Amino acid sequence: MPVKGLGAYDTNNIFARILRGEIPSRRVYEDDFAIAFHDIAPQAPLHVLVIPRGPYISLADFTAKASEAEIAGFFRAVGSVAKQLDLETPGYRILANMGEDAGQEVPHFHVHLFGGKRLGAMLVAQG
Ligand code: 5GP
Repeated sequence: MPVKGLGAYDTNNIFARILRGEIPSRRVYEDDFAIAFHDIAPQAPLHVLVIPRGPYISLADFTAKASEAEIAGFFRAVGSVAKQLDLETPGYRILANMGEDAGQEVPHFHVHLFGGKRLGAMLVAQG
């Protein structure tokens, strides 16, 4: 069920549990502001999720409530992950689903990072 992207943060959502180490993940990066790990159902040869450490549901929630340091730190982390994975030269795509219309399923803000092949045209909508 897609989440609405607003409302109260669910402290037991799957990414909160990954952050606490209660559920295993294949981490590729971590710093004070963010962690990154492989998506469990990759949609490209390389599909990594970057999430802030703070409890934010969506981009709307993150940009409304996070500190300047958290916002800057998070987006720097996205760049660092891509660099660490050697994606800068071949290129990559980032994507964030926000709320119901975008089909956001996990109610903890995250950026998808795709790479490892020609990604084709940007997808706006299906059906
Ligand atoms: P959304 O649709 O919310 O933008 O993306 C959620 C993503 O989280 C999906 O790509 C899905 O495959 C991934 N995901 C869901 N549960 C888990 C999990 O337990 N571990 C990992 N590594 N990824 C997950």
